[in-house]
Amino acid sequence: MMSITNPPPFVTTLDIRSIRDAFPVLKQQVNGHPLVYFDNAATTQKPQQVIHALNAYYQEYNANIHRGVHALADKATMAYEKTREMVQTFIHAQHVEEIIFVRGVTEAINLVAASYGRTLIEEGDEILISAMEHHANIVPWQWICQERKAKLNVIPISDEGEIDMEAYHQLLSSRTKLVAVNHASNTLGTINPIKEIIRDAHHAGAVVLIDGAQSAAHIPVDVQDLDCDFYCLSAHKMYGPTGVGVLYGKKELLERMPPYQGGGEMIREVSFEHTTYNELPYKFEAGTPNIADVIAFQHAMKFILEVGLDNIAVHEQALLAYATEKTENLSFIRLIGTAREKVGVLSFVIEGIHPFDIGQMLDARGIAVRTGHHCTQPLMARLGLDGTVRASFALYNTFEEIDQLVEGLNKIIRFLK
Ligand code: PMP
Repeated sequence: MMSITNPPPFVTTLDIRSIRDAFPVLKQQVNGHPLVYFDNAATTQKPQQVIHALNAYYQEYNANIHRGVHALADKATMAYEKTREMVQTFIHAQHVEEIIFVRGVTEAINLVAASYGRTLIEEGDEILISAMEHHANIVPWQWICQERKAKLNVIPISDEGEIDMEAYHQLLSSRTKLVAVNHASNTLGTINPIKEIIRDAHHAGAVVLIDGAQSAAHIPVDVQDLDCDFYCLSAHKMYGPTGVGVLYGKKELLERMPPYQGGGEMIREVSFEHTTYNELPYKFEAGTPNIADVIAFQHAMKFILEVGLDNIAVHEQALLAYATEKTENLSFIRLIGTAREKVGVLSFVIEGIHPFDIGQMLDARGIAVRTGHHCTQPLMARLGLDGTVRASFALYNTFEEIDQLVEGLNKIIRFLK
């Protein structure tokens, strides 16, 4: 990953025109201007292949999966399980049954907190998160700590938005049972040194959950190389549909964990007196899952793999370097999050103008950004801010779009000041 203090040349190896062609939503005007979509950290747009796969399922082979004996159920089951195999390939998991389908990162973390947390966290234990976590990686651990009389500790960060590794090492002890951090921050863009974090947590005897919401579509992920115990991702941030995500867990851990929800599919045998559970991964997939969206997700991963995660990373790093250079020279802008390693997230504030107002004025020019606390209120408190404006980049964004953002910001300032 390139550093923003040493920017690469502003070039890309991607054929942006044909990539953009695959995304119908990008071909529209918003408020009389061509849409500039810079809200990719919230959700990415979907390529035609994904939309087509969704339609095809409902039009051609809609059926419930797994226990069916008819042709449509067979076809749906095979397509659903093919996505599981593709996730295994995508994140380099050792076993296909380590891939559990959930609603998204939020549900993945809640699953681990409810199942692992309730049974394996005990009074006096400690859970460690960082100061830059999304609420989804804070609240479930707060609950578990309250319930189990454990302690939630927070690793501090620097003003630039990097984890304080010295403080991390001091906080780690034999009481630390679980470390939960994001791979990349949705608010600051910081890419955290998770390999080192995982290694050191393991030395202390803790298991590690990685929130991969902001990394899976931008950085190649190899869960075996990282040696993480859990890795969570959301399909909708990876050019896939909403309502689908993945919990990866090491097989031996998942086997020790009790089911999270009870119902159909997760059982082996039920009587009124006693229930035995299905094997992995079905033990954690109670009820009819989000079949259509899981199937469509495989086409999103296929799309990413065809473009190539390395090519995507080069393109997005070039966009980030270009946007950083263009905006850090604007006297009225203060960039928030200047870590050495970042994904394509540019957060900033303008003194005296509320982020929401900037967002609205950019929207009037067809530019979609996100404003506010980005579900990281404790991080905002740490930085002494109410919120930021966030432009987040994806593989279909262009340098010209960044020029339009900069021009928009200049015009807003001229208008308001
Ligand atoms: N963690 C991070 C870092 C995120 O950016 C998000 C989504 N904004 C989440 C967790 C939650 O993801 P989801 O809403 O898809 O469950």
